[in-house]
Amino acid sequence: MISAHRRLASPRATGSPTRRPVAALLDRSSVDDLVEQLDAARDVLAGAFARTTQPLSGISPEAAAAGVAAVDLDRPLDGVGDVLDEVRRVYLDHAVWFHHPRYQAHLNCPVALPAVLGDVIAVAVNSSLDTWDQSGPATHMERHLLAWTAGRLGLPASADGIFTTGGTQSNLHALLLARGEALAAGADPARLRIVTSSDAHFSSRKAAMVLGLGEDAVVETAVDAAGRMDVEDLDAVLARLRTEGLVPMAVVATAGTTDRGCIDPLSSVARACRRHEVWLHVDAAYGGGLVTSRRRRHLLTGVERADSVTVDFHKTFFQPVACSAVLVADRATLRHVTHHAAYLNPSSDVAEDIPNQVDKSLQTTRRFDALKLWTTLRTLGPDRVGELLDTVIDLAAEVRGDLVGDPDFRVVTEGDLSTVLFRFVESDVDDERLDAVNEQARRRLYATGLGAVARTRLGGRTWLKLTLLNPATTLADVQQVLDLVRGHARAALAHPDEEVA
Ligand SMILES: *Cc1c(COP(=O)(O)O)cnc(C)c1O
Repeated sequence: MISAHRRLASPRATGSPTRRPVAALLDRSSVDDLVEQLDAARDVLAGAFARTTQPLSGISPEAAAAGVAAVDLDRPLDGVGDVLDEVRRVYLDHAVWFHHPRYQAHLNCPVALPAVLGDVIAVAVNSSLDTWDQSGPATHMERHLLAWTAGRLGLPASADGIFTTGGTQSNLHALLLARGEALAAGADPARLRIVTSSDAHFSSRKAAMVLGLGEDAVVETAVDAAGRMDVEDLDAVLARLRTEGLVPMAVVATAGTTDRGCIDPLSSVARACRRHEVWLHVDAAYGGGLVTSRRRRHLLTGVERADSVTVDFHKTFFQPVACSAVLVADRATLRHVTHHAAYLNPSSDVAEDIPNQVDKSLQTTRRFDALKLWTTLRTLGPDRVGELLDTVIDLAAEVRGDLVGDPDFRVVTEGDLSTVLFRFVESDVDDERLDAVNEQARRRLYATGLGAVARTRLGGRTWLKLTLLNPATTLADVQQVLDLVRGHARAALAHPDEEVA
């Protein structure tokens, strides 16, 4: 391990027969260098994983910034070994490790092992998925995966879609298509509205901003006690908008809300959308992985009636960032993002049936992000992916049950997926003070690096959140984090002035 390292650190001292300088580009002549460098990177990675005993180092933003600022980008280092050393020192030693069982904060997953393999190959070959003449079979592999996903969702044979960089882009893409349909039907752009629940992800609001509708074009429905869209209210909102001369261009239902992990009643929402003739987009960025679950696939019932669906493979399919897709029930709607450029994808290509994915994408040059999903499914198979997801959903349910009996915490008892919302409480302390104490507990824990939890607001109060996406995390790991939170909360109550970063 160390020898490979040294060899790369000073290539001239190695006695290498060719004594060639480090190659600038990857090609046939430098492929041996690539292999050698992958070996060295492997050692650095293996070392980092071996040394990782907690999810983060607890480094402060100031210290991290100083470490990075000290690097003079105008003065390259002497060899790949030194570069890897610097990467280790500046980045890996202080990275946030999603594979660590006590990382329980956000919607980040440990990555599927076969996905790394796929991504390394994708990066080295560097196919670009915009046109067939830059990608060859990669385009067909992407299409095969999109068709597979559409099939699992139960979308009709007319379905299609495209890979994107994430749920935010997938939602934007879907809403752009919905707007295109509304405008094609003669709607006044100033009167367009997007309807979603008050628990929905903020990316619909961002999409409204990007689409020139303004954030105010998003109208919220109420949710029930568990945080699922209230369909009666949806019905009322849609009727009211029409009465006011406004045009609901899309309803965004959420299959797995980011905080409470609840799935909107998709079948009833779909019925309301049909009745009011509104485009239904299902944001399944979080819950999309359920299509692989034998035990919980039924939670997505109704999604097959959507006009468009967002699925984030980089959440519940355990894929490295970025890996997401937007699917549409009617592939003809993708025309709203089509532009034919003479140099790239001329309309004559359509007549010749040349498959140019750029015709359906907001991006032009685009990574082969589908390959890592491909290698994952071909190695593990969908059932194993579903079992991994079921494991973390089971754990979340177990944790919620456990917290109900704990006098130090209040807990949100309902949830379809793998989040747990909880809050440290103390009987004689008011809610406002407890808000601050919970936030302090989160920060203090983060500063120790021993665990990571998130925070959010619900019902006007601050709650802490576990997002469990690591199948290796056990109930004992969660209890350890909760005990740490408890300790920090008590300390924050006793010594409120001891601020930490
Ligand atoms: C995570 C999430 C998004 C945003 O997805 P990114 O991949 O982070 O862009 C959108 N909607 C929901 C419900 C999410 O949980």
